[in-house]
Amino acid sequence: MKKKRVFSGIQPSGRLHIGNYVGAMRNMISLQDKYFCIYGIVDYHAMTVRFNPKEMEERVFNCAVDYIAAGIDPEKSILMLQSMVSAHTELAWILNTITSISWLLRVPTFKEKRQENPDYVHMGLLDYPVLMAADIIVYKAEVVPVGDDQIPHLELTREIVRRFNSYFGHVFPEPQSYLGKVPRILGLDGINKMSKSLDNAIYLDETKEEMWKKLAIAVTDTNRKRKTDAGDPEVCNIFTIHKAFSPKKDVTYCAEQCRTAGIGCLDCKKILLENMYKELEPIQKRQKELRTMKDYIHGVLREGCKRAKEITEKTMSEVYEKIGIKSFHE
Ligand code: SF4
Repeated sequence: MKKKRVFSGIQPSGRLHIGNYVGAMRNMISLQDKYFCIYGIVDYHAMTVRFNPKEMEERVFNCAVDYIAAGIDPEKSILMLQSMVSAHTELAWILNTITSISWLLRVPTFKEKRQENPDYVHMGLLDYPVLMAADIIVYKAEVVPVGDDQIPHLELTREIVRRFNSYFGHVFPEPQSYLGKVPRILGLDGINKMSKSLDNAIYLDETKEEMWKKLAIAVTDTNRKRKTDAGDPEVCNIFTIHKAFSPKKDVTYCAEQCRTAGIGCLDCKKILLENMYKELEPIQKRQKELRTMKDYIHGVLREGCKRAKEITEKTMSEVYEKIGIKSFHE
């Protein structure tokens, strides 16, 4: 049976942290066996915020390294770079002509980014959900792994698909969201999303000692003031991270010991550190190795783009036919 297609975009946004790993990467890795996955490093999306061009090449390179090191297998999936496959932006232009501005103004992330950076509100910021729609449907992807915050983008994609198909005739399937079982990990402050800018993250490439320095002072159940106080694991972000990395027996042990004041938070965090590092250490070894293999990484992206273009050319041919310009593209 033909495997359904999955598309997911990866932002080359710098160092990856355990929130990215648990929230997105693990899903992407596990989907590879069941689906035909196309994973795009979306460099054009990374340009919707101010960026340093001198860093972009390294960001893309490290992003490819990190995902391959974590388990994206270029033999199973397509790993490609968005700007190397021009059909993404070509289709985005056509979609722009059928997308209502009011739909884009409704997108919550546009409102947030406009508030965060009122001096840097540009067309790309408003329009990037259209490029995102093109990224997905140019592969006729049927499944898109998303976090809660991306559901409005996918709904917009579906709206655009419906409009295209009704104006010009059926070309695109409506993609469905895939919400994997993802524990919601907060930053080490226990309040905000894990992020580089808030300095509350543990990075995939940190040493065990660096991880411990951060974990040791991370916020736990704020009502547990002393080791002799019983705690509540269900309100503790460290416990959520445990559930993401530790085996069931350790999770159960820590919960029981927390509720009965059997162990202190530092003991609990030490158990977490061991489990987390056990999973991340092999990834770190592969990261180090792959960072020295520049030709291999470039080759993976070139091959991925070649395979991606075989798909996008077919889609664009159908699109050109529907919009009446196919004969010029033959
Ligand atoms: Fe959190 Fe563990 Fe401390 Fe309980 S013992 S509050 S689960 S860190």
